[in-house]
Amino acid sequence: MIPYGQQDIQQADIDAVVGVLRSDFLTQGPVVPQFETAVAEKVGASHAVAVNSATSALHIACAALELQAGDWLWTSPVTFVASANCGLYCGASVDFVDIDPHTYNISPVALEAKLEKAESDGRLPKVLVAVHLCGQPCEMEAIHDLAQRYGFKIIEDASHAIGGNYQKERIGSCRYSDITVFSFHPVKIVTTAEGGMSLTNDAKLAERMQMLRSHGITRDPILMTKQPDGPWYYQQVDLGFNYRMTELQAALGLSQLDRLEAYVERRNELAARYDSLLRELPLVTPWQHPDAYSGRHLYVIRLRLDRIESSHRDVFMSLRDQGIGVNIHYIPVHLQPWYEKFGFQPGDFPEAEAYYSQAISLPLFPTMTEQQQNEVVDALRLSLEK
Ligand SMILES: *Cc1c(COP(=O)(O)O)cnc(C)c1O
Repeated sequence: MIPYGQQDIQQADIDAVVGVLRSDFLTQGPVVPQFETAVAEKVGASHAVAVNSATSALHIACAALELQAGDWLWTSPVTFVASANCGLYCGASVDFVDIDPHTYNISPVALEAKLEKAESDGRLPKVLVAVHLCGQPCEMEAIHDLAQRYGFKIIEDASHAIGGNYQKERIGSCRYSDITVFSFHPVKIVTTAEGGMSLTNDAKLAERMQMLRSHGITRDPILMTKQPDGPWYYQQVDLGFNYRMTELQAALGLSQLDRLEAYVERRNELAARYDSLLRELPLVTPWQHPDAYSGRHLYVIRLRLDRIESSHRDVFMSLRDQGIGVNIHYIPVHLQPWYEKFGFQPGDFPEAEAYYSQAISLPLFPTMTEQQQNEVVDALRLSLEK
C-alpha cells in the first residue's frame, strides 16, 4: 500500500529524542521554549505557545480571544472537525461559510455576503477560523479587510500550511490574523508525534494562552490578582487545562524543523509532477492562487464525473483495491451527525458539497519516489477507464 502521507524520521530526530530521555526534564524543561523560539523566528511571529495538539491550540486560541456562550464562530465546512469544535468547547455557536470553487478555501465573496446578512440579523461572528486547506493560504488580505469592517477576530488554522507563504511572507507571521495555529501530527508537514502551536504578535494573547495550557496557573507576581503568600506561591487566575507539550515532542519538532524547507520544496516538486502527469485525465488538478506558496500537505484532485462512467466511490474503491492509500479530505463538517443536530442540512453549502462529491486526496509525502508516483498515476488511469 502506498500511504497518502508518511512521516520521515531520521537519525538526527532519534538522537534528539534520546538526548531528552537522558536529561533531567521530560516535561517543562528547556527544549519546549527552544522549539517555540525556533518556530516563531522561522515564520516571523513574536510569540509562540507549544501545546499537545493543534486541537488544543485552537481551543486556547478561542478562549484567549474570549469566545463564549452567545458568540458565533465561523469556519469552512471543508476542514477537519477540530476547526469547528473549538467554538463548541467555548460554549459558542458554530456556523460555516461556503468555499471558493477554485481554491477550496473560504470564499471571501461568500463571507462578505454572509456578514452583510448577519449584521442585519444581529448575529455577526466573534471569531473566524480561516483554514488553509491542503497548505494553500486563504485570501487573507480580503478576509482581514472584512474583519476590520465587521469587527471579528481571525484565527488561521494553518495545520496544513507550515513552510508556505502568503504574498511572499511566511504563513504564521500573523500579518492578517490574531493567532495562527500549526499541527505537528505525523501526517502533517513536520511532526512531534502529537503536537501543535499557536503563534501571535500580541503579548497579551500569548500570556493568556500560556496560562490556559497549564491550568490557568501563573507564577508571575505581575499576573497575580492578590499578594503572593511567599516564594512557593502560584495562583490559579483562570480555568485552564493541561495541554502542555513534552520535552520529547519538542526535541523531535526542533530536529524536524531543520528540514522544513526541504520538505516543502519536495512536496511542491511532486505536486508539479502530478500536475503534468495528470494533465490529460478527466479530472481537475489543484489550482494555486498567485498570492500563495502552498506547503502542499495534500494533493486533492476533483473527478470530472460528467466525463467518466464510474462514480466517485468506484474510483476511490478501485484505487484502494490497487494498493493506493487514497483518502477524502474532508466530509463537510455541517453534515456530521453532531452538527446536523444544530439544524444544518444537505444543500446548505453547495460548493463544499460539490467538492466533497468529487474530491480524492492522492498520496503525497516528501520521501515518495517518482516510481511510487507513477504507480499512483497508472492506477488512477485504470480506475477512470473502468
Ligand atoms: C490535523 C488538523 C487539525 C488538528 O490537528 P491535531 O494536531 O491532530 O489536533 C486541525 N485542523 C486541521 C485543518 C487539521 O488538518
